[in-house]
Amino acid sequence: MKLIRFGQPDQEKPGVLLDGTRYDVSAHFVDYDEKFFAHGGLQQLADLLQHQAGQLPVVPAEVRLGPPVARPSKIVCVGLNYADHARETGATPPSEPVLFMKSTTALVGPFDNIVIPRGSVKTDWEVELAVVIGKKASYVEEADALQYVAGYALHNDVSEREFQIERGGTWDKGKGCDTFAPIGPWLATPDELGDVDSLRLWLTVNGQKMQDGTTAEFIFRIPHLISYISQFMTLLPGDVISTGTPAGVGLGMTPPVYLQPGDVVELGIDGLGTSRQVLKAYGQD
Ligand code: ZN
Repeated sequence: MKLIRFGQPDQEKPGVLLDGTRYDVSAHFVDYDEKFFAHGGLQQLADLLQHQAGQLPVVPAEVRLGPPVARPSKIVCVGLNYADHARETGATPPSEPVLFMKSTTALVGPFDNIVIPRGSVKTDWEVELAVVIGKKASYVEEADALQYVAGYALHNDVSEREFQIERGGTWDKGKGCDTFAPIGPWLATPDELGDVDSLRLWLTVNGQKMQDGTTAEFIFRIPHLISYISQFMTLLPGDVISTGTPAGVGLGMTPPVYLQPGDVVELGIDGLGTSRQVLKAYGQD
């Protein structure tokens, strides 16, 4: 299944994408939130589509898409999880996953604008595979970890490199700014996607290819990440894990290249669709 959320910001309703057409399921479900995933929502949605798909209202194509999950309790990110990206940033490939948090207020829809934060001169891009958790996960064994996955989505882990690296302390300062987490267009359930260890992921800026990688280059694979993170915190249904970015970010170029107002970022992952964001200056409409 491909789950979408549509409508104005903070007023999104749940829907599904079937053969390229969007359908409204808000008469049957409140939202794709913690309660939905925790209480068997995915199975109920599958039953609904099996029996009543023909009776669902169509959502017009021009309606805005929001992120495909409601604001989660956490967005946990993995840093330096591709060997080629670790090299370009000058970092040693980590012996354990590098974790940082992205504020949940950064979440926006896949075609929303990215706002360059006040005072920022080093706003950068990162195409990533995001994992959405389907059930409460604490001290999960690696062998069981994929049972905790609700699905997967495309994510741009937008990053402010000065805030992240030059302002002291953790990376979190450069990761949680408003609009820094465009997710979607849809959440694909695992059966839709097949092998998540060989997905191509790419990103362009103003049409120029910047990133072109594959999840085959993961240093730590998804079952290890879920198990590892669950040793340090409980993951709740609807929580998002972003699994790191391949080479080709602006920070890694010589000289580095950063995003400017008016720039257009497009990205995609096999089976997870494409997204597109236009850069705006802070305070610009
Ligand atoms: Zn990242």
